[in-house]
Amino acid sequence: MSHFHEAETGQSRLRCPKDGTLMEKSAVAGTAGVTVDRCAKCGAVWLDKNELERILAAGAASKVDLGPFGKDKPNGPIAPLMCPRDQSLLTEVADAKQMHVLIMICSECGGKLLDAGELIDLAQFTVGERIKAALKLG
Ligand SMILES: [Zn+2]
Ligand SMILES: [Zn+2]
Repeated sequence: MSHFHEAETGQSRLRCPKDGTLMEKSAVAGTAGVTVDRCAKCGAVWLDKNELERILAAGAASKVDLGPFGKDKPNGPIAPLMCPRDQSLLTEVADAKQMHVLIMICSECGGKLLDAGELIDLAQFTVGERIKAALKLG
């Protein structure tokens, strides 16, 4: 029942690593061609290599991230999550600038899985956090 062979993306839809739901492709306005995959069930967003940086640089986080879906979001991964592209194990890495934001990263393809709300969180890199980060460098 796959009707997604359009030349638009040249690839089939991905399944959400968390719940197996087919993710929706979403072109991000203002990013010169970034297309993300988003799970309509849990709100998780899959970003291919460098897409996160491009979205943040374009200030388009709020166009991608729909915000937290539920208030009962569990802390930390419940089960090992696999990359939707190459089935490699995703590893949880704290963002270099905002240590409270944990991102699932695929070491194979460089893709990243962000929970709903995390992208907006990353984009809201406050002045206070910038100063803290700067101090750590010294
Ligand atoms: Zn999901
Ligand atoms: Zn991968």
